[in-house]
Amino acid sequence: MDKVLLVTGGSRGIGAATALLAAKRGYAVAVNYTSNSLAADEVVRAIRADGGTAITVQADVGDEAQVLAMFDKVDAKLGRLAALVNNAGIVDMQARVDEMSVERLERMMRINVIGSFVCAREAVRRMSTKHGGEGGVIVNLSSAAARLGSPGQYVDYAASKGAIESFTIGLAKEVADEGIRVNAVRPGLIDTEIHASGGMPDRAFQLAPTVPMKRTGSAQEVAQGIVWLLSDEASYVTGTSLDVTGGR
Ligand code: NAP
Repeated sequence: MDKVLLVTGGSRGIGAATALLAAKRGYAVAVNYTSNSLAADEVVRAIRADGGTAITVQADVGDEAQVLAMFDKVDAKLGRLAALVNNAGIVDMQARVDEMSVERLERMMRINVIGSFVCAREAVRRMSTKHGGEGGVIVNLSSAAARLGSPGQYVDYAASKGAIESFTIGLAKEVADEGIRVNAVRPGLIDTEIHASGGMPDRAFQLAPTVPMKRTGSAQEVAQGIVWLLSDEASYVTGTSLDVTGGR
């Protein structure tokens, strides 16, 4: 039986690349999205056309009831969850901290931080040997912003990713002897639509000259790091963050 993987935000960008690559490596993939059903359907269509197994699962990871329904659907349609990629994440419009509203901050933390916590909680309840599970793997999406801080652009986003890194370290230690590995990937400037959603479609290309490798990264290059961390090749790796930043 194929190992079951849930990728949050699997409809586009890094999540879509991860879903496609993991399916090639034999995972049955649940492709989560929040609003872009056409994009999620396209990822599932491509996986099935290649002989793989995939379903779409709609849920806003910032809404607990929707997350619970999503996990129930994965249980019912694909079976025992073996892997989770906490990839869904947002940025907001470029702003300084002294311009940020509480509404903005709450939305940022609810989706990027609490969403990842609640999805990981549901995964641990299914994977942990303490709960009768058979173990599993979790990969969280951090960002180089966690250590760069993103001044003048989105310090709120950077701080949400800092929280993801502490979360990764703590959860990894909590479940290390329950058959679960937990790691993070820290992408740098990756060519996806997230920059347009923050009002700066050319951000990655504009900043590319500041990268030691002098180029942006692709979603596929990040997916390769994620899928390696999911795999048994990383069997002794837990509680760490992997930079995929071209040296930035
Ligand atoms: P993206 O191209 O903007 O895609 C975002 C994905 O997340 C989409 O599938 C979107 O679904 C989904 N999503 C957004 N809000 C959601 C919510 N509330 N609930 C469920 N799904 C939601 O993003 P990306 O660039 O691939 O980024 C993926 C992850 O990598 C994020 O955590 C991001 O912070 C991190 N990252 C990205 C970069 C970069 O340069 N691109 C760098 C560092 C870290 P819909 O299609 O339905 O909208």
